[in-house]
Amino acid sequence: MRFLANLLFALLLISASSVFAVDAIKPISLIGDKTQGSLIVGQVASGAKVFLDGVPLKVADNGVVVFGFGRDAALDHSLTIVSANGEKHIETITLIKRDYKVQRVNGISKKIMNPNKKNQTRSSSEAKMVRKARATDSTRQDFMAGFIQPVQGPVTGVYGSQRFYNGQPKRPHFGVDYAAPVGTPVIAPASGVVTLAHDDMFYSGGTLLVDHGFGVSSTFMHLSKILVKDGQEIKQGDVIAEVGKSGRATGAHLDWRINWYEHRLDPQLVMNAMPSKVVFK
Ligand SMILES: [Zn+2]
Repeated sequence: MRFLANLLFALLLISASSVFAVDAIKPISLIGDKTQGSLIVGQVASGAKVFLDGVPLKVADNGVVVFGFGRDAALDHSLTIVSANGEKHIETITLIKRDYKVQRVNGISKKIMNPNKKNQTRSSSEAKMVRKARATDSTRQDFMAGFIQPVQGPVTGVYGSQRFYNGQPKRPHFGVDYAAPVGTPVIAPASGVVTLAHDDMFYSGGTLLVDHGFGVSSTFMHLSKILVKDGQEIKQGDVIAEVGKSGRATGAHLDWRINWYEHRLDPQLVMNAMPSKVVFK
């Protein structure tokens, strides 16, 4: 009897320590694709610091960290986690290189193709407003609830494709385009706060930016109508705008983008990786 009790006690100790060991040797949990254009959400123990390629990342009180990789991001990165007791762990991240499509868009007006001085000045001041909105650095964690598609319709443009407008090579496309009739409601893919609502920008027409926290934001372009105001809090699924064809667009569609600060990410990739509440395993 005594022997059995000792054995049972020993078994309990072993199982308890192995459970503890699994948690203790995992300094960070990550969700997201290790590829160009991806958003990655991680969680560390409270009090830990995290550095991406030597640059400190903002760590939330609940240990959540976020980072993203642009279209042409380098493939090799290092993540350094320094725990509250000073223990250092380095994890290498190797991204998969992506191939991007070539897309030709014709029928763009001369006014848009060869902007005059006035329109050049206008578009550069508008670009400044967008950059400022994307630099918003809040502690919201709306991205943790995942992302839903903001409008239903066929995909007519994807992230990363090399664009030729009227045969001329221009900047790559950074959003996902959904074709839908003018006036189709656009819903918020995630909750957040409106950081920019502009009725008519030179290239992007009716333009809306929403902050989802920690540098993660959405951009919506070519809108015919914006139904929310600067500074307004919105919930995932709220109707925030209507599809249009304003700015450099040849037909009615929504162009939806996801950004991590100045980095442009692939909205389809992010939505597929985080379609609902983020749960760390
Ligand atoms: Zn587009």
